[in-house]
Amino acid sequence: MDSLERVRSYVAQLTGPEGLRIAEALMSRKEATDSELAEELNEKPSHIRKVLYDLYEARIAEYHKEKDKETGWLTFYWAIKPDHAAATILDRTRKDLAELKKALDFEQNHEFFICPDGAERFDFQRATEHSFHCPEHGSVLQQHDNVNELEQLRQRIVALEREARPAQ
Ligand SMILES: [Zn+2]
Repeated sequence: MDSLERVRSYVAQLTGPEGLRIAEALMSRKEATDSELAEELNEKPSHIRKVLYDLYEARIAEYHKEKDKETGWLTFYWAIKPDHAAATILDRTRKDLAELKKALDFEQNHEFFICPDGAERFDFQRATEHSFHCPEHGSVLQQHDNVNELEQLRQRIVALEREARPAQ
């Protein structure tokens, strides 16, 4: 996956196709203001700004501001640098992957119990603390086969491992 592809796929997940359209327009320029993007895309500036701030929060978009010497007005110049953004995304993906692997390890090495009258799951230690009774319903906890949880975790790990591969 190259940087552009990585950024596109991440932005699409984060903001949907509308946000991706804005990010694409921004990446095709060196930098742009919200009103330039609004005009180019025929969108409300407020909508453009919302997406830009979401991308900024996710450390995908960057800005610098300039003050007009006469009016004192601030203009924000936005940019997405694909290599920066891709490095941020890759870093985040690797951290998520490490967390998932920890979670998988925990699932594989613990026994679980479930309340038949609710959906709450207890690991062995917590079940012991409550003498194998649900603290909320008083019901006797039943052994829970975590095959589904394991499968979900494995699938997410495979997907993230694919995304975490370095650029070719
Ligand atoms: Zn319960």
